[in-house]
Amino acid sequence: MTQANHAMPPDAEEDVHILNTIERWVDRDLKPIVKEYDHEDRYPDGVVEQMKELGLFGAVVSPDYGGLGLSAATYAKIVMSISSVWMSITGIINSHLMLALAIQKFGTSQQRSKWLPRLATGEIRGGLALTEPDAGTDLQGIRMTAKRDGDHYVINGTKTWITNGAEGSCFALLVKTNPDAQPRYNGMSLFIAPKLDGFTVGRKLKKLGYKAIDTAELNFDNYRLPADHLIGGVEGQGFFQATGGLELGRINVASRGVGIAEGALKLALEYAQVRKTFGKPICEHQAIQLKLGEMATRARAARLLTLDAAQTFDRGERCDMEAGMAKYFASEAALENSIEGMRIHGAYGYSREFDIERLYRDAPLTCIGEGTNEMQRIIISKQLVKRNPVI
Ligand SMILES: Cc1cc2nc3c(=O)[nH]c(=O)nc-3n(C[C@H](O)[C@H](O)[C@H](O)COP(=O)(O)OP(=O)(O)OC[C@H]3O[C@@H](n4cnc5c(N)ncnc54)[C@H](O)[C@@H]3O)c2cc1C
Repeated sequence: MTQANHAMPPDAEEDVHILNTIERWVDRDLKPIVKEYDHEDRYPDGVVEQMKELGLFGAVVSPDYGGLGLSAATYAKIVMSISSVWMSITGIINSHLMLALAIQKFGTSQQRSKWLPRLATGEIRGGLALTEPDAGTDLQGIRMTAKRDGDHYVINGTKTWITNGAEGSCFALLVKTNPDAQPRYNGMSLFIAPKLDGFTVGRKLKKLGYKAIDTAELNFDNYRLPADHLIGGVEGQGFFQATGGLELGRINVASRGVGIAEGALKLALEYAQVRKTFGKPICEHQAIQLKLGEMATRARAARLLTLDAAQTFDRGERCDMEAGMAKYFASEAALENSIEGMRIHGAYGYSREFDIERLYRDAPLTCIGEGTNEMQRIIISKQLVKRNPVI
């Protein structure tokens, strides 16, 4: 935690225990290994086992199914804390929880009892498979099809950029059950898709940052799935089921942005007090003071905006605008703070020996994932008009 955060509103009682535990874990177990795993782009199996023990694979899953049942606000603070040191590994749980929440929110009672307890413990791990080579932002443009064949569906097509694609074993898979439907979203369905015959992992994608965790292509070739894997049991609901989790998804990405923005501030603040030029620590030069002042303000604003969105979500209110604002602002704050942090480090910021370079490589993803920042501003604007009609 940085000094700037000490003046934040106190954490709710439910937060205190879990947040302390997470902060101790980050300090004791993550900090010493992050550089090695990131530079070697090595999957952190041991960290995954620790996350299972911490209950993180069931963080927002209801206790009825073995989860921790945490509020969005508490979960956001956990993601902030981890991301201030190692953003990548939050993808292992965030994407997994998108799958679990799709089942929890939209699944039949049989689907909830069959899948959620094993997802909550991390026995089954997975993610959300929406994006295709020709369709990311324009999700309704996907081409993957599922054709009914007796009591099965036969699925063909390719997904790409799927987090946990190689290491996970089960995905929420968005397909077209009626490719000719108009509007296009009426022909879309969401399936629970475990790795069975016909489902293979293609290439793992090489990335600028977000190292150590896998992002992969998934290929489906006459993949036969029992019909009871259709989430909710009714065709044509997939678009709303897939995007229904995006508010929380955006709060999660905003939390990652907050973590990076705060992490960069912390590193810069430490470095600026020990590095001396012209006979004094650089934090005493006005140019550096201006940077630190801006970085601290951005990090704090990003945190407050993100917690505001999470609390709105927790009250059960519509929060697409709030989540969009948080995601947009916090991810841009991550990008700006990481580059300013790097500048404050001078040449050492450009070295792989210092942690700031990792934050700089990780930050841009937060501007792309869960809806690009271009789309966030459009969503915010549309909601503004809708909520403030003059005619
Ligand atoms: C590391 C990583 C992990 C990912 N993990 C997952 C995952 O687990 N599951 C998953 O399904 N996807 C995942 N994605 C994909 C991600 O969600 C998409 O990349 C994202 O939705 C953008 O889609 P796109 O890349 O196809 O860009 P495009 O849709 O091709 O957009 C290109 C550019 O055009 C802009 N643009 C597009 N349409 C409009 C418009 N109407 N108005 C204004 N601007 C527009 C965009 O903002 C962007 O700047 C991941 C991506 C990355 C990089």
